[in-house]
Amino acid sequence: MDKVSRIELIGGHPAVDFVNTVGGLRGGADDENLFGYPDLLTWVARAGLLDADAIEALRLRAADEPRQAARAFDRALRFRARLDAVLRAHLDSRGARPGDLDDLPGDLDELRRAYLDALAHAHLQPQTAGYDWTFCRATDTSLESPLWPIAQYAVDLLRSGALGRLAQCGHCRWLFLDTSRNRSRRWCSMGACGSIMKMRRYRLARQQ
Ligand SMILES: [Zn+2]
Repeated sequence: MDKVSRIELIGGHPAVDFVNTVGGLRGGADDENLFGYPDLLTWVARAGLLDADAIEALRLRAADEPRQAARAFDRALRFRARLDAVLRAHLDSRGARPGDLDDLPGDLDELRRAYLDALAHAHLQPQTAGYDWTFCRATDTSLESPLWPIAQYAVDLLRSGALGRLAQCGHCRWLFLDTSRNRSRRWCSMGACGSIMKMRRYRLARQQ
């Protein structure tokens, strides 16, 4: 099974989970999970951002137009790098004034442009409760469309109070929204880093 089919979605928000498609230990080498356009589609399907018919239509189209699919994939990875930079700068700058984040305008502008592109292609549709954007129909596919819901979620997160809940795992580079009542979550997941760190502490305690 490919890596992207197994990756845990623990970020608590689709934009955070997209950034987490790069894993690896804190300060260590990056651990990539997306190796091409089909992986991007698999991730978007797992995150529930496009429906199954649209995903299938995009898979067929990508097979017919590999060069355009590769370009769309590169753009998604560029977007991910920009979003990663913005979220980590936010984590690093807690307590700083907005004007202190001088190196971000290029990253933020890229996010803004992807967001505008997304909304230009979105349809406002009734949902079970209220209305929401939909981004791709099986009969009207664009190879760029997997990025659209990601861009919309990303900018929504940056504009929301939930950003104040952003945290990084104590062991790896994964980010998450800490929704625990006293903001005490320290690990991305107990199944991944939590159990490793607990075992390490247990061994250290036994050695003393
Ligand atoms: Zn972790």
